[in-house]
Amino acid sequence: MSSEFNEVPRVSSRWLERFLADPESRTYSRQVSGFLHSLVTPTRVADPQLLAFSADLALQLGFPECYCRSDAFLQCMAGNQLLAGSIPYATRYGGHQFGQWAGQLGDGRAINIGEVIDLNGQSQCLQLKGAGPTPYSRGADGRAVLRSSVREFLCSEAMHFLGVPTTRALSLVGTGDSVLRDMFYDGNPAEEPGAIVCRVAPSFTRFGHFQLCAMRGELQLLRDLIDFTIAVDFPELQACHQDRDSRYAHWFAEVCNRTRVMLLGWMRTGFVHGVLNTDNMSIIGQTIDYGPYGWLDNFDPQWTPNTTDAGMRRYSFGQQPAVVQWNLYQLANALLPVTGNREFMEAELTRFATLHERDWRDMMLAKAGLQPGAEQEDDAVLDGMMQLLAAQETDYTLFFRRLADFDHRRQELQLADIVSDAIYDQESYDDIQRQRINAWALVYAARLEQQGSDWAQRRARMNAINPCFVLRNYLTQQAAEQAAQGDLQLLCDLQLALQRPYEEVPALRSLYARRPDWARHRAGCSMLSCSS
Ligand code: AMP
Ligand code: MG
Repeated sequence: MSSEFNEVPRVSSRWLERFLADPESRTYSRQVSGFLHSLVTPTRVADPQLLAFSADLALQLGFPECYCRSDAFLQCMAGNQLLAGSIPYATRYGGHQFGQWAGQLGDGRAINIGEVIDLNGQSQCLQLKGAGPTPYSRGADGRAVLRSSVREFLCSEAMHFLGVPTTRALSLVGTGDSVLRDMFYDGNPAEEPGAIVCRVAPSFTRFGHFQLCAMRGELQLLRDLIDFTIAVDFPELQACHQDRDSRYAHWFAEVCNRTRVMLLGWMRTGFVHGVLNTDNMSIIGQTIDYGPYGWLDNFDPQWTPNTTDAGMRRYSFGQQPAVVQWNLYQLANALLPVTGNREFMEAELTRFATLHERDWRDMMLAKAGLQPGAEQEDDAVLDGMMQLLAAQETDYTLFFRRLADFDHRRQELQLADIVSDAIYDQESYDDIQRQRINAWALVYAARLEQQGSDWAQRRARMNAINPCFVLRNYLTQQAAEQAAQGDLQLLCDLQLALQRPYEEVPALRSLYARRPDWARHRAGCSMLSCSS
């Protein structure tokens, strides 16, 4: 390593400058009152190994590649050493889990290690997930297993390149220590390799941070947190609105807007978060906490990747808009004692649903390469398309990529042939099914003709919003299994593919295929437990 990178980056923390720490410095699980965080030191790990890092994010943070390959970086990302200036801390939050108030939760295994200013001048907070117990661990070990860390590392970066707001992941480090987990909750715990992901985001503040202050009646702390969040994470609002009531109102509206943009990104790409508890909702509208998430293979709005949710399907793909709105209601309830303005908030929450419905419709039209126009004609095309997707198991990702290949002026090319590799059950893909698709293609072609649609332009537009690569569940599962055996090849290949999700790279073609049959019901490939 060249000498110029012997110095580790210097970090600071605006959170620590603003808020007093819990005076109890010992790390034992407890309720913390009157403070938003506790100082805590990451617990040493035995034999850290850098399994992967995001070169793209490192570049944005101004970390030279050779630094990221150095032992100094590895030790800091493992929690064995501190970045210069780092005062590590874990924060306190609460949340509604599966619709029930769960009380104090907090960073039970995530430790903030400081902020750096990135190349765009944006402050970015670094956080180690799996770095050992904190006062918020609730008796658990503060660690994370390799399989869940591989999943979080890859998905954070995949979402970023898909253009969906998300926390990011700088590094994936194997700890060399093992962790005991009951993966299937069936009374058979086993040792698994441990790992740490360094997550990066402008803010890790969650709805649950505000909720816990409100629930405990800590109104001054709640006001301080609201004012801090607006000043630090929404500086444009701070500058525009001198009047406090107006500032609070515009802030809540902006949180709703950002959350709506994030939600639409999920619905466009077929992402299912899996645990949309209020503690897993970021106040800056980024996807956060990648646990038992999943991607739609066949289009099924009722699909949930989370085994704990299999009965209720509260967090299934199609429920996400309603649940996100419910979470915003909980946020509004928490803010109300400080911000007031109930009518305004209620109107915003109603507007959220109305705007999402409009967004969803416009987006589905755009996915099909159509511009919104005459309502009745648009509805006919969309309704028909949704019926096709529901009629037989059809891959959500492949269907839209193939639809872009359909040239409506070349009637000899039948849509049923063009989209055939998006169909799961090839044996039942018979003449009746094919005729149904070709019949819809006539309606679709007529609409394209009415809009004077040019095929090459439409194809380019569609392929810019319909990914060819999503992080299919079975791929991540295989990458995690192979990484546990010391084979990092698939992890590397997935890192390559996820950086260009809209562009077909011939060498990566096998990663674009629909889910293979063997993966349909295999644990980790179709559904996941929360054990991580
Ligand atoms: P999650 O389901 O990952 O959003 O976690 C819910 C809560 O449990 C959060 O407060 C986490 O910090 C905490 N938690 C989850 N796993 C662990 C663990 N292994 N050790 C300590 N806290 C944990
Ligand atoms: Mg969480």
